[in-house]
Amino acid sequence: MRLIFLGPPGAGKGTQARIIEERFGARQISTGDLLREHRARKSELGSQAEGFMQRGELVPDALIISMIESELDAHAGTGFVMDGFPRTIAQAEAFDALLTRKGWALDGVVLFDADRTTLTQRLTSRWTNPRNGRTYNTLSNPPRVIGIDDEDGGPLVQREDDKPETVATRLDVYEAQTKPLVAYYRAQGVLIEIDGLAPVSDVTSALIAAVQKRGE
Ligand code: AMP
Repeated sequence: MRLIFLGPPGAGKGTQARIIEERFGARQISTGDLLREHRARKSELGSQAEGFMQRGELVPDALIISMIESELDAHAGTGFVMDGFPRTIAQAEAFDALLTRKGWALDGVVLFDADRTTLTQRLTSRWTNPRNGRTYNTLSNPPRVIGIDDEDGGPLVQREDDKPETVATRLDVYEAQTKPLVAYYRAQGVLIEIDGLAPVSDVTSALIAAVQKRGE
């Protein structure tokens, strides 16, 4: 299975990508998680990306595209769910070229719809397990004990870019730079639109049904 998850930050792409990875073995490739790993191990890419990420801006296309190329080379053969990539037309065009070179077709591009007010609420109440990227939401999906992961019992943290000012920038950046991809993929006939605000299990069922229908 080869999918792209498209949509604003906080629309549920990461949660659904982890579910699809567990059920279908298609690897979640989250450019945000990969960049956070680079920063944690203080690689050159990590330090190049740091300022952009702290401000809620996009990391330059060339850095992202080469990171994706090496990620796909390292894991050739398995399917994928792209979570947070591509985010600009230049990234989408580079990814199309890469897919053509590899002879891979996409099974779909899933657009997660959500309104700005709900996204802002969701992001500012989001808590993450930094060890594996699992997320909770203190409003809609709280952990059993506040601040503690249900499964590994370790501490949860709030992402630095989930602060209200940075959230506003990230949503503006989505509108300006990423939203044009909706028309781009609609024109390719691969776009699948789903309601990102439905309960998690309903979103999963809707997206699996839509991807399977496209494949028929
Ligand atoms: P995310 O976890 O997907 O919200 O990404 C966190 C941050 O990483 C974003 O605000 C950007 O600064 C950076 N980032 C992640 N993916 C990309 C991408 N495809 N292109 C540019 N910047 C990205």
